[in-house]
Amino acid sequence: MKPRYKRVLIKVSGEALAGPDKFGISDEMLSGIAAQIKEIHELGVQIAIVVGGGNFWRGRTGQSIDRATADYMGMLATTMNAMALQDAFEKQGLPAAVQTAISMTQIAEPYNRKKAISHLEAGKVVIFGTGTGSPFFSTDTTSALRAAEIDADVILLAKKVDAVYSADPEVDPNAIKYDQLAHKEVIEKQLGVMDITAATLCMENNIAIHVFGVSEKGNMLKAINGEKIGTIVR
Ligand code: UDP
Repeated sequence: MKPRYKRVLIKVSGEALAGPDKFGISDEMLSGIAAQIKEIHELGVQIAIVVGGGNFWRGRTGQSIDRATADYMGMLATTMNAMALQDAFEKQGLPAAVQTAISMTQIAEPYNRKKAISHLEAGKVVIFGTGTGSPFFSTDTTSALRAAEIDADVILLAKKVDAVYSADPEVDPNAIKYDQLAHKEVIEKQLGVMDITAATLCMENNIAIHVFGVSEKGNMLKAINGEKIGTIVR
């Protein structure tokens, strides 16, 4: 089957890398995600990744720490995940580059849009660490920004939950599952797919978002092949 998308931006949240205790990196989750991404890479899809850091630290966690400082700490947390993903890809024979918006040249390339695109064209997976490089933003917003910059066909939002619901399905048994949504609905109904800044950026730049559950093996492949799983925001 011919993949539906040529170039994708995958958002991997920190939580998706953590084990049941929701902290740190689980070997199983890490290698599982790398294997799913390898499957779609083998179809010739160009893959860029924005990785979160919530499995280690979120800016809003540090109550007594100045918010900007706490956010910079969160950006450092994303770098640990980026390095772990790079290692997991390389172990599976997939070449991968890490680019960070905050320079740390001993361990990663500084973010460079043209170089990122040339890596993608050469078949390398590109992992973007340290978010936008600025506090008060999120890695969701980074995903929207980088997707626009590299002209990705879609943002694949690999989540723990399998789709977008009207309420948290674990709390509310009457929560409705959405197959398709408009960006405007996500913003107006505050559906929590991504933060409002990120959703607005996607709406303004016409970027589609495909939300699906990553725990189920093969879902990434289904999403790439255009099968009806999860929720599509367009
Ligand atoms: N962060 C930031 N600017 C950015 C991206 C991230 O300040 O452009 C910080 C922020 O503190 C955030 C943390 O990094 O809480 C981790 O990112 P995020 O919460 O988006 O990770 P996720 O929830 O996806 O694991």
